[in-house]
Amino acid sequence: MTDPHQLLRQVFGFDHFRGVQEEVVGRVLAGRPTLAIMPTGAGKSLCYQLPALALAGTALVISPLIALMHDQIRSAEALGIKAASLTSADDRDTVVRRFLNGELDLLYVAPERATTDGFRRLADRVPLSLIAIDEAHCVSEWGHDFRPDYRLLTKLLGDHQEVPRLALTATADPRTRADILVQLGIPEDGLIVSGFDRPNIRYHIRPRDQAGRQVLGLLAERPGPAIVYVSSRKDADSMAATIAASGRAALPYHAGLDSQVRAANQAAFVASEEMVMAATIAFGMGIDKPDVRTVIHAGTPKSIEAYYQETGRAGRDGDPAEAHMLWSAGDFALARQRIEREAAPERQADERARLQSLAALVETTECRRAVLLRHFGETPPPTCGNCDNCLEPPHTVEVTEVARKLLSAAFRTEM
Ligand code: ADP
Ligand code: MG
Repeated sequence: MTDPHQLLRQVFGFDHFRGVQEEVVGRVLAGRPTLAIMPTGAGKSLCYQLPALALAGTALVISPLIALMHDQIRSAEALGIKAASLTSADDRDTVVRRFLNGELDLLYVAPERATTDGFRRLADRVPLSLIAIDEAHCVSEWGHDFRPDYRLLTKLLGDHQEVPRLALTATADPRTRADILVQLGIPEDGLIVSGFDRPNIRYHIRPRDQAGRQVLGLLAERPGPAIVYVSSRKDADSMAATIAASGRAALPYHAGLDSQVRAANQAAFVASEEMVMAATIAFGMGIDKPDVRTVIHAGTPKSIEAYYQETGRAGRDGDPAEAHMLWSAGDFALARQRIEREAAPERQADERARLQSLAALVETTECRRAVLLRHFGETPPPTCGNCDNCLEPPHTVEVTEVARKLLSAAFRTEM
């Protein structure tokens, strides 16, 4: 086995592991099943890419999105790592041949393929170095993005009991973590949690009155790259047009755009030092742009997990960055109605509680960061000095009473 520090320097070009990376890599190399909870941008990919090089055999990487896999493969190949994916967009015969010949360090597979009998038979014929499960919160119904196919991974894992398994996710509250451990057969002592605090992000949360005017006002004073999250494709198009009309470069991004347009808009944003991306939540996963200075939520996010993940795209370079949420009671009311209409009966109480947690973040007069970090099971200091409530303590009567009234209207009935 090659020395991990040597691989870190020679292949990845880094002098030091960051945060819990060393501990996670060490566990994987020792063959111990592990669940690593690491914030976005913390460097989760390296935690399976490096062991994939150090250990004999091919690493399977379970990953939910084709676009994400292809980005990962491009950056792995740039480092000289032999990686491929088995999706409808790939040349299946070539990939299978390389896999069977043991020519791949990493094979990325979506959960719906990884759980088929055909793939399981294929995987039986090749020595595996490890099985990495990215976005592992998808395995849990408590998580914010449950995908039933993740549940079926137990079959594949069962086929390879002796192969080291590593589950990774950026966002999982304590209950979701416990569930991931059970679902993926990882013992409790396999849980490694790295800190969630993003001290360079300044949090601001206030009610929305006129989204367009408020967003333009914020952007006027904040020149660097920015993402404005909106709730619908239509809003993304119109927000991009409004911003562009104000003289600032802006483009839309949402799942309704042609994939070539999406890729071109993303590339333009990544290359720019001033552009605004007006986007739905389809934008962001796997995008590596370290200098995003501002993230604005012009529509209320779906949950605290979603808010944390989306705001986490700001300031990955460690320089000061800002997150602004413009919420409305109407959004909460709609989210509530949607739960009643669409969530399975046994999920409704949980979904309502999730929404209530977000409402608590919105209406608090306490430190926002403290509320956020406690949600993820941390015990933060009571004040951070870098959020709206710490910087300008709100006048309880004027601000929070309004918030409380609006929210209680949105939550009226038995909540
Ligand atoms: P995550 O999947 O946790 O969001 P990534 O794996 O995409 O994060 O890594 C985020 C960025 O951090 C990448 O640009 C990566 O090259 C960089 N990175 C990872 N590990 C280190 C390290 N030990 N030192 C410096 N930069 C690192
Ligand atoms: Mg990642």
